[in-house]
Amino acid sequence: MTNGDGGTRREPRLAAGSNGSIVVERCQVCDAADLAPVIFLGFLPPVNTMPLIGSRPQEQPMYPAQVLRCRACQRVQLGLVVDPALLFPPSYPYTSGTTKNLRDNFAALRAEVEALYPPAREDLVVDIGSNDGTLLGNFLATSQRVRGIEPTNAGRLANERGIPTLISFFGRPAVETVIREDGRARIVTATNVFAHVENIHAIVDGILELLAEDGLFISESHYLLSLVETLQYDTIYHEHLRYYSLTSLRNLLEMHGLEIIHARRIPTHGGSIRVYAARRGKYPVRESVAPILAAEARELTEGKLETFRRRVVQAKLELLALLRDLKGPGSRIYGIGAPSRASTLINYVGLDDNILDCVLEISGSYKIGKYVPGTLIPVLEESRLYRDQPEYALLLSWHIADELIPKLCANGFRGRFVVPLPVPCVMGSGQD
Ligand SMILES: [Zn+2]
Repeated sequence: MTNGDGGTRREPRLAAGSNGSIVVERCQVCDAADLAPVIFLGFLPPVNTMPLIGSRPQEQPMYPAQVLRCRACQRVQLGLVVDPALLFPPSYPYTSGTTKNLRDNFAALRAEVEALYPPAREDLVVDIGSNDGTLLGNFLATSQRVRGIEPTNAGRLANERGIPTLISFFGRPAVETVIREDGRARIVTATNVFAHVENIHAIVDGILELLAEDGLFISESHYLLSLVETLQYDTIYHEHLRYYSLTSLRNLLEMHGLEIIHARRIPTHGGSIRVYAARRGKYPVRESVAPILAAEARELTEGKLETFRRRVVQAKLELLALLRDLKGPGSRIYGIGAPSRASTLINYVGLDDNILDCVLEISGSYKIGKYVPGTLIPVLEESRLYRDQPEYALLLSWHIADELIPKLCANGFRGRFVVPLPVPCVMGSGQD
């Protein structure tokens, strides 16, 4: 896709299609060269490379995970972009992952739109990366016309459910098809899309083209301030190219003539931000925007990011010390959950199969029967937890510890829990 602003912007060199990786020498958003290092987590294996249990360790790629901050536009970004073909090998199975939390969040988004910017019947709502159509189902139920754009098989599932979905990557051809068939959109949504796509300007150009004159663009992204506050360094891996603050999102959207008119912090994925934008001057800017920008000016300074880095290192040392003490008497420690973020935590902290006996996933997970990336830690079925009753369960989805602990106890686990972040600690099962 070409630039939409008259071509003054330089086309970035892309890792996509390179069968390799590209070192980020200049900011991917504003092209400035002044990139300050935030943290270096060492070399990490791709989170979807999981060899079968029993296979011998083979040569495999590891990519440097350095996080940089652009001093010009505040964008926090990974210092290396890896070709998506290497991150998503053909063996990578698609999983929908539409959990109850996400369904509730999308219903809440629909309710907020109704309260603040009620759409008319027959208005068109387009969701980019629409997955199985869960978000759009909320708008369909209130008589809007909807259209999803989704490259994976989840789009077929959506079509079967009656959510019209174009099976395609988001780009100029997809935009032209939707405009030809459905017209321009009153609302364009993109949840958890912005962090993953390499050529972000092409995406925003496409959104602008798709939006009606009075259209709203609503995005949700994992939020940098949440990441820093609660030490979620484990959400750093090569699929996540950028870490969003409202400030950096504003700077990006302003380059395209879009203005942020409303923003709200939401709890999904351990802390996200929902942002409404429109063409400049079309809507009043709500009071929600300024306090978030002010908080970021205070909390995301270079000094605060340096504190974040020190806290991450401290949490690593404390977790190792804690596990040393627990492991000493020969205790068994099982990990709970193998989300992508578990791979970063395990590899950065340096856990191996001598420390963590196994990691458990719920029955049906495609990860069962494989090793955690970069290790020989086997991923096994969760039923093992209740059968084996290990002394400790390490919560790798620690950001939902409050949900997990009662659930695992109710299901019959009698051991104790290790919560690795933000402050490593042991918690009782509630039965002792
Ligand atoms: Zn920049």
